[in-house]
Amino acid sequence: MTYIHTIMERLQHSSPAQTEFYQAVEEVLQSLDPLLEKYDRYHRHAIIERMVEPERQIMFRICWVDDQGQVQVNKGYRVEFSSTLGPYKGGLRFHPSVNGSIIKFLGFEQVFKNALTGLALGGGKGGANFNPKGKSDAEIMRFCQAFMNELYRHIGPTTDVPAGDIGVGSREVGYLFGQYKKLVNRFDGVITGKSLNNGGSQLRTEATGYGCAYFANYMLEDQKSGLDGKRCLVSGAGNVALHTIEKLYQLGAIPVSCSDSSGTLYHADGMDLDCLRQLKSHSDGHLQDYLSEHSKARFIAKKDNPKDGHAIWHLPCELAFPCATQNELTEADAKALLANGCQAVIEGANMPCTSKAVQQIVRAGRLFAPGKAANAGGVATSQLEMAQNASMQRWSADEVDQKLKDIMCGIYTRSHEAAAEFNQPGNLLLGANIAGFRRLADAMIEQGVV
Ligand code: NAP
Repeated sequence: MTYIHTIMERLQHSSPAQTEFYQAVEEVLQSLDPLLEKYDRYHRHAIIERMVEPERQIMFRICWVDDQGQVQVNKGYRVEFSSTLGPYKGGLRFHPSVNGSIIKFLGFEQVFKNALTGLALGGGKGGANFNPKGKSDAEIMRFCQAFMNELYRHIGPTTDVPAGDIGVGSREVGYLFGQYKKLVNRFDGVITGKSLNNGGSQLRTEATGYGCAYFANYMLEDQKSGLDGKRCLVSGAGNVALHTIEKLYQLGAIPVSCSDSSGTLYHADGMDLDCLRQLKSHSDGHLQDYLSEHSKARFIAKKDNPKDGHAIWHLPCELAFPCATQNELTEADAKALLANGCQAVIEGANMPCTSKAVQQIVRAGRLFAPGKAANAGGVATSQLEMAQNASMQRWSADEVDQKLKDIMCGIYTRSHEAAAEFNQPGNLLLGANIAGFRRLADAMIEQGVV
């Protein structure tokens, strides 16, 4: 039995029924093979055995009262995965699908992503199985306060600094921050993604989507190509998707789709971003309503998705940006993309492509940008927010944007160079995993067995 198989088997015993977590670990371990074969120190120091076990996992009950006076109970999580390179850092997700496996896969990915940025960031993730949809503003506030009533004792500006993720935007961050401040009686930079009024950074909201488009541009420029005129499929209609669409337009590309849990919107002339934003600005906005302003656009309802896949990836494109959620692009979807001539897949979401989809894309020799590289602009700008909070400074949008571009360029270069070093030029999945792992593993060895 190989080393990787032994690790995976042990993981399935110690952390049963965590399929998304196994998927994330296996993907990383598979690409580390050439590094582990070349250097035996990682094996000797049991680095992988230590990395797959979070330093600390917190699970807690959240009780709150809804607008009808009913007591509601949810389950909260904070998985503090690694503090080797800096304070635990990673977002909070509020979504009914949240469970231990999802939070652990996100936390594991986050550790490598943060290492790859080159910044002083550890990795963690958290959230709750709370569904914000259909809740009143007062209910959202009470839930956030109840969540923070437990979380506050585990976080701090140099220990653990959460941020937003699915279902947690600047409104939720505001309520979480307000309750933290009330409980500890300090104005700490303890959570990022704050509004400018609360000490947030310029461009933090935009950073993941912008960074994703910058990454795609660096990757294409290296191929003597670029985004100009490229037709792009973008999935999702949330923070990452809308800011990816915005930056793609600015860089000359033509985003032609978006999606949400109701279905896919396709507009061959290019998405009308203002119209989309308008639709998504109120909680009862439906993607389908876009058609009332754009009769040439097409809406494909979720029930009409093809078997084993999603309608969005069966549309023609040159580039694909999955920006919604995990496992939203399957093997069947990847085959359809390749058949339609898609040249590159750039992951804006975390693990949006299944393992088999990734294999299809990489084996076909098409470009693939893994989420831990392409969507790292958000966490990188969170670190810029932490730096501004700690020094009580405020940087201009231009300053932050330039730093974001430099960081994305650094991530691309590190991934690209590691892939070349291990004789797989252009394999950014392998390069990103090796570059992130190596920085983290070497620091762990230097810190001793802790
Ligand atoms: P968001 O603002 O909450 O948007 C999520 C979008 O994805 C929504 O349009 C949502 O549609 C759609 N979606 C969610 N689950 C879906 C499903 N099962 N099927 C179809 N559509 C679904 O969240 P976000 O911040 O954009 O995050 C999107 C992804 O990027 C996540 O994987 C997240 O972990 C990753 N990410 C985010 C950041 C960040 O800074 N925000 C940073 C790095 C990575 P509905 O509204 O209909 O549910």
